[in-house]
Amino acid sequence: MTQTMFTEPDERVALREAVHKLASSYGRDYIEAKARAGERTTELWQDMGRHGYLGVSLPEEHGGGGGGIADLAAVLEEAAAAGAPLLLMVVSPAICGTIIARYGTPEQKQRWVPGIADGSITMAFAITEPDAGSNSHKIITAATADGDGYVLNGRKTYISGVDEADHVLVVARMADEKTGNLKPALFIVPTDAPGFEYQPIEMSFTAPEKQFNLYIDGVRLTQDQLVGDPDQADAGLLQLFAGLNPERIMGAAFSNGMARYALEKAVAYAKERAVWKGNPIGTHQGIAHPLAKIKIELEQARLLQQKAAALYDAGDDTGAGEYANMAKYAAGEVACNATDVAVHTHGGNGLAQEYGLGQMLLAARLGRIAPVSREMILNFVAMHTLGLPKSY
Ligand SMILES: Cc1cc2nc3c(=O)[nH]c(=O)nc-3n(C[C@H](O)[C@H](O)[C@H](O)COP(=O)(O)OP(=O)(O)OC[C@H]3O[C@@H](n4cnc5c(N)ncnc54)[C@H](O)[C@@H]3O)c2cc1C
Repeated sequence: MTQTMFTEPDERVALREAVHKLASSYGRDYIEAKARAGERTTELWQDMGRHGYLGVSLPEEHGGGGGGIADLAAVLEEAAAAGAPLLLMVVSPAICGTIIARYGTPEQKQRWVPGIADGSITMAFAITEPDAGSNSHKIITAATADGDGYVLNGRKTYISGVDEADHVLVVARMADEKTGNLKPALFIVPTDAPGFEYQPIEMSFTAPEKQFNLYIDGVRLTQDQLVGDPDQADAGLLQLFAGLNPERIMGAAFSNGMARYALEKAVAYAKERAVWKGNPIGTHQGIAHPLAKIKIELEQARLLQQKAAALYDAGDDTGAGEYANMAKYAAGEVACNATDVAVHTHGGNGLAQEYGLGQMLLAARLGRIAPVSREMILNFVAMHTLGLPKSY
């Protein structure tokens, strides 16, 4: 009989420890100071790149570590658990790196993947549009053939880190040369291209990574800026699907790491703060039980994350799709619950800037909204897993 493993390989355990140590040397104070000053976390990003952590899942032949998405998710989870999450890991190495490494032309792989792996190239990812929202079938950003290249027009919204990125991987639509039908097509667009403008969106939480509206007006692109081989049937669709599972698994890792950080802070405070007869507040079940419940929810969410990543790394894209969605859902929930319990455990201090938990309460909500909302995941599970009728 074969064994079902619930422990990670020694290499990944060592990777987790090393990343946690590095990210802790920056820590929550560094992230908050950068966010408050409107500055970027470039030093941490470069440090993570130098150590090979950003490229751990990308192919070795293109400068990556040759590991899996489980390894990259472990890196992000540990950074977040140390209080220093890097949101752009979800987009640059996980979505853009994976898509180009899997579907780019040999020249594109050589041109982009090594830089994404070592962090010297940061690539943002743009699919969301103001009028399409969760319904990506409705996107209107479109490319038209023009001479031996393309012209791109459209709008995108809530695109993370465009100011930090050299390029954006833009999801557009393009007419199929043979059928004339519109199909997805992904373009690598330089952020300084003529006709490409971006404006920051004022968010209600402060984070070092900013969000942007994109205005794409007549941006001229060369043939090699279209990812992959245009003659390959369904190329854009396959590329898009290749990015979705890593995106969700990384979204889960981001939220799970944040939940771990919040739980650790809350437990430490509950052990130390004493207001009745010298007993720490953690003595009271009103404080202890919510913390224990978070621990259980967190372990459930982390198991789903690990299962989704294991399925993806084993090449089971369909199975990974189901579990990546469930993992993202569970992690988004536990991040919201954990930050809420952490704030409450701290009493008034939970809302003081010094403790940094109030900001996190708001930031944790991101895990319920992006990259795919809680409701769209429930729609997916209802339809694909349970076989219920499509509701939208
Ligand atoms: C901080 C941040 C960073 C982001 N970064 C990026 C990025 O880098 N790149 C990128 O492309 N996008 C990014 N996004 C966009 C994000 O992916 C979208 O916000 C998300 O997919 C939801 O789309 P929407 O905001 O248009 O909500 P809407 O689609 O307008 O949905 C609004 C509400 O209605 C619900 N809803 C919609 N349709 C249904 C339905 N059929 N059934 C039930 N409920 C439904 C949703 O769940 C949601 O609660 C980011 C967003 C945020 C907030």
